[in-house]
Amino acid sequence: MRRKVILLLISILAVGTVHDAAGQGVATSAAITDISYDVTFTRANAEKRQVSSAMTFTVGGTEPVLLSIPEWTPGAYEIDNFARNIANFSAEEAGTALSWDKVDPDTWRVRPRGIGQVTVRFDYLADSLDNANTWARPDFVLFNGTNLFPYAEGRGYDFPASVTVNTEAGWKVVTGMTPAGPRRYTASNYHDLVDMPFFVGQFDLDSAQISGTWVRFASYPSGSVTGGPRVAVWAALKLVIPAEVKVFGEVPWTTYTVMQIIDPSYSGGSGLEHQNSHVDVLGPGMAGSPVMPSLYAHEIFHTWNVKRLRPSDLWPYRYDEPQPTTLLWISEGITDYYADLAEVRGGIVAPKGFYDLTSDKMSQVEVLPPTALEDASLSTWIHPRDGTEYIYYPKGSLAGLLIDIMIRDASDNHRSLDDVLRTLYNAAYKTGRGFTSDEWWATVTKAANGKSFNDFYARFIDGRAPFPYDQVFPLAGLRVSRDTTHVPQLGIASLQDSTGLHVTQVIPGSAAAAAGVQPGDQLISVGGFNANDPNWTDQFRSRYARQAEGTELPVVIRRNGAEQTLTAHLHFVLRIESRLVEDSRASAKARRVREGLLRGMTTP
Ligand SMILES: [Zn+2]
Repeated sequence: MRRKVILLLISILAVGTVHDAAGQGVATSAAITDISYDVTFTRANAEKRQVSSAMTFTVGGTEPVLLSIPEWTPGAYEIDNFARNIANFSAEEAGTALSWDKVDPDTWRVRPRGIGQVTVRFDYLADSLDNANTWARPDFVLFNGTNLFPYAEGRGYDFPASVTVNTEAGWKVVTGMTPAGPRRYTASNYHDLVDMPFFVGQFDLDSAQISGTWVRFASYPSGSVTGGPRVAVWAALKLVIPAEVKVFGEVPWTTYTVMQIIDPSYSGGSGLEHQNSHVDVLGPGMAGSPVMPSLYAHEIFHTWNVKRLRPSDLWPYRYDEPQPTTLLWISEGITDYYADLAEVRGGIVAPKGFYDLTSDKMSQVEVLPPTALEDASLSTWIHPRDGTEYIYYPKGSLAGLLIDIMIRDASDNHRSLDDVLRTLYNAAYKTGRGFTSDEWWATVTKAANGKSFNDFYARFIDGRAPFPYDQVFPLAGLRVSRDTTHVPQLGIASLQDSTGLHVTQVIPGSAAAAAGVQPGDQLISVGGFNANDPNWTDQFRSRYARQAEGTELPVVIRRNGAEQTLTAHLHFVLRIESRLVEDSRASAKARRVREGLLRGMTTP
């Protein structure tokens, strides 16, 4: 997952990265077999913004069948309670209605009449523009299996199933599932079933060979990505995918599908990864921006790192409760590090571009409260409101860079973080299990010629000490250049979601506080710049950088549904900006490490 987060804590500078155990152990369902699902989405469904789901299975008697809907979609580490979108639940056997009730908020208990075939049906409200959920338009729907496909409680996830899609004759269907007939698809187990979202309706679709396999690009609405912009998407995919394949040495999919939605109601951008696809939801400002190759690279790298190479806390996925892990910084942050590496190794950005991406991440971390990567990994499930909710992306990415440099330095560039990932991929994923923290650090130490990372772990991963940039970067011929500038500071932290940019924190004594901005306000514009424009902070800075302290600054917010204009006064603060640059005095060894990192190579 990658969420669009904008922070304005220290300066007005936007730093953006593109982001219940109920029922468990209580009861077990009667066994069910021959499971199939039917999803119906027609113009009539679209009008009601709903999708109809039917599940058919065979029962061996009158024992109650307990059917549950997941509480979350893997990759989106939050409890969504999809069952709340369900209406009109019914069950029947041989044409006769069956009695049913609920045993917990997302589990239905159906009472069969005896041996035979049972069908349960329900409608799902399809109005959530969220890549973990279901969203319908008059000619289109995105749906996730976690929303529409119940499973038998307590019976495990290792059952095959098929999905048939009923829709308008002229509409398209795209999914990562295995085709098994006209608009019929199969999966060999529930994990795969719910990891392959669908696009149904009218959208653009084309494909190309990359790294020896077919990659498809599906974009909604039709016409939203055509001509030059579509060529640019393909150019980016053709550059980043081979760079990522090289890390692991294999392409794990037979086909890969990039599924992209652009909608004016969405601001920023968000991607959600799957084993052979990902779903991007973008606001118009994000589509076609320089951030997009990075978003594609991030989500596609997940096909190895997290969908296959996964912390043991997340293996296997459970769907009825949160699955916190201290290692999400590896699954998300290091994925983000490799998104940057894929860009520079693939040639989308020059080394300077890679240093700038890294500098941005350093700035993002610097303005946030000191937070341990392990703690941030665990906490994401409850969405902390102090600004650190997604710190494990930029900070985890920087940890990846530091560890990579230390491995390359200790091994004289004979090994790298690539070797760690590939080793664990083979040792853990390929043997059908997740990896542990101990295993991670043992593999890092082995790659680094036996160098101990105990102290690094204690201080910088489990602990909250500031990262040792000045000690580690020179080992790769890099250094941090610190510039002191005066920048306008509003003094808020904010979070972008699908409804807009929301203030999450107001610094006491700041310009925003004096103007009366409050947490929970939606930010509409600042100084005349539309806060939904991803570039607004750059424009703001260039217009106001030379204005006088105290200049009046209109801040338009929405509070309790009503727009208000508050008046802030321009306030400058001293800001130390850290930038990663090449060190002109780097040793030959350090330059070798730097080149190896940027090109994805080690010394043979
Ligand atoms: Zn991610």
